[in-house]
Amino acid sequence: MSVDLLQTPIEFLKGVGPKRGEILRKEAGVSTYFDMLTYYPFRHVDRSRFMPIVEINSENVYLQVRGKVISNQLIGQGRSSRLVVTISDSSGSIDLIWFQGINWVKDKFTAGSEWVVFGKPSLFNGKYNISHPETESMAEFTAQPADPLHPVYNSTDKMKLNGLATRAISKITRTLISQLQGVIPETLNNDILYQLKLVGREEALLNIHFPSNTEILEKARARLKFDELFFIQLRLLRYKNNRAQIIKGNIFSHIGDLFNDFYNEYLPFKLTDAQKKVLREIRADVGSGKQMNRLLQGDVGSGKTLVALMCMLMALDNGFQACLMAPTEILANQHYATIKKFLDGMNITVDLLTGSTKKNRRKEIHPMLQSGELHIIIGTHALIEDAVKFSKLGLVVVDEQHRFGVAQRAKMWSKSTIPPHVLVMTATPIPRTLAMTVYGDLDLSVIDELPPGRKPILTYHFYESGHEKVYNFMRQQIALGRQIYVVYPLIEESEMLDLKNLQDGFDHLKQVFPSSKYALSMVHGRMKADEKESEMQRFKLGETQIMVATTVIEVGVDIPNASVMVIENAERFGLSQLHQLRGRVGRGADQSHCILLTGFNLTADGRTRIETMVRTNDGFEIADVDLKLRGPGDLEGTKQSGILDLKLADIVRDEQILRAARNIAQNLLDADPYLVKEENLRIVRYLNYLSSKKAEWAMIS
Ligand code: ADP
Ligand code: MG
Repeated sequence: MSVDLLQTPIEFLKGVGPKRGEILRKEAGVSTYFDMLTYYPFRHVDRSRFMPIVEINSENVYLQVRGKVISNQLIGQGRSSRLVVTISDSSGSIDLIWFQGINWVKDKFTAGSEWVVFGKPSLFNGKYNISHPETESMAEFTAQPADPLHPVYNSTDKMKLNGLATRAISKITRTLISQLQGVIPETLNNDILYQLKLVGREEALLNIHFPSNTEILEKARARLKFDELFFIQLRLLRYKNNRAQIIKGNIFSHIGDLFNDFYNEYLPFKLTDAQKKVLREIRADVGSGKQMNRLLQGDVGSGKTLVALMCMLMALDNGFQACLMAPTEILANQHYATIKKFLDGMNITVDLLTGSTKKNRRKEIHPMLQSGELHIIIGTHALIEDAVKFSKLGLVVVDEQHRFGVAQRAKMWSKSTIPPHVLVMTATPIPRTLAMTVYGDLDLSVIDELPPGRKPILTYHFYESGHEKVYNFMRQQIALGRQIYVVYPLIEESEMLDLKNLQDGFDHLKQVFPSSKYALSMVHGRMKADEKESEMQRFKLGETQIMVATTVIEVGVDIPNASVMVIENAERFGLSQLHQLRGRVGRGADQSHCILLTGFNLTADGRTRIETMVRTNDGFEIADVDLKLRGPGDLEGTKQSGILDLKLADIVRDEQILRAARNIAQNLLDADPYLVKEENLRIVRYLNYLSSKKAEWAMIS
């Protein structure tokens, strides 16, 4: 009964109606009572306080003033006209401006009438004004119940023009709450409420809109944040449990000849302890009869590819095929070359399938895969195509996960009746809190050690004026036989301009490093695949000393003799991107260097990014700074995951709540794996409700 009421379409609420209902749906994603109830205010203002007009000194913060109208003018004509109403209090005056909906408001503001005005000031011609403020006559204002804390809601221009500015939303919400009081179901069990001293759900939902003081508001927020994080964790962990129960995995029962031969005779170096540890973890998974879904995290250069290869050998030893998917062709080509080389002399068939594989080649590859003649296939998204069928696919390795969507992973599953084991490799160090949320259903292995003999990369920051010094340094390094990357930003929005920059930079470098003495390569994403590949090859073979590139070389490229990374306009790159780029050097025995060139004007964030890079090589530290600077919504891979659709919780600031939520969810499932106990009924109901509501929650991850 109560659940149904919450699902009532929003237009049925008094004060909404079909037209506003439609706008709420389109502009705010609010289509039901429940959606409206969880359309939380993003802040509250103290209604008892008015700011003296003279004290207004910043833009973009909501504030409340009161004053009398001293003038009311329509300026300009037709489309470009605007209404300017000037009000003053005892301290000063300010203009209120309307560009739209003028006819509705212009007659209200008669000279001398007194108004309460709420809005965001902006600075124009050295003076503050407030455009499209919300206004209430003094009489209306005093007639209203005095909430000490007044909620402020997001409202788009379209909403405002249709009577859905923040005050209207608060009125609607008040009406809604008066109808819902007593019927909002609790979603947690009493134990949890008691243990964490959480307020009830109904109380929290009422108080988050209309709290009587800030302490009560905080309690409401804490409760609702817990709900957000708890149900995500519960869903992920339950999914993981179920998968383990229901889905059988291929059993790689033994370590066979291929693995052992490779390990004893072909492996050119000793595995690091971290690599061994991870291989043991994987071995335990694939031998257990459950399907492995493991995230392998390791900083750039930590040797993930080799671990992946050895897992593929486990698959082969047990009669299965394996595939490795990379996010770009360059990377797929390189994996192919690397793995071929590692396996040289062994009786294993390996092939490559990417977007630019010719039709004739495909016609050869497809049947070989389907017959099982081909043991290992390496490629890009091309592997996902329906035409690609396997005889017995046992293992899928996905490199650089953040570029593959969840749905694509699921598609690989379907290529085998028993789903293959999945190993996801990422060099983007994901902070624990994020990993717990986004990859909460995967098991985690970490390679936390670099192969021996690596010297930490030295990183320097130069302003543009330091170019000459940088060129000198480059000459010295080339004289020592080293190779150098010079990277330019290429941002999609300004692609043409960036490509021109790259070309200009290349032309300039050709003058600084004349062809009589030096050879340069260039790659960027707009080049044809075979052109790219041949330029990469020339550099790889040492025929050219300088590789001028965009971020196409960001991931995976492995050329140990390249020991200098110069990044132009480094302030335009994100931290994780800078870290990835820097990871292209430091792969050989030589001391490596990374030079960050920037303009003189750095934003505060830009400066923090550069300073962080200069200070540390530690990917996890960098990831933490990155998360703090950008917020989780921006991290690659989290957007498409859809999981981080959090309204209140912030996985950085609310780490403690997140940990508590995960623990409690785990304990709950330990005690009641199928969630059948009476006391967990509320929890299950809400979980099911959420799953029905969020399409992405139902997807396999
Ligand atoms: P990642 O993919 O994790 O960035 P790679 O797998 O490309 O790292 O490995 C980086 C380099 O280190 C490669 O040249 C690889 O051959 C080498 N390497 C891997 N494992 C070891 C090891 N145990 N000892 C020495 N070198 C290693
Ligand atoms: Mg790699």
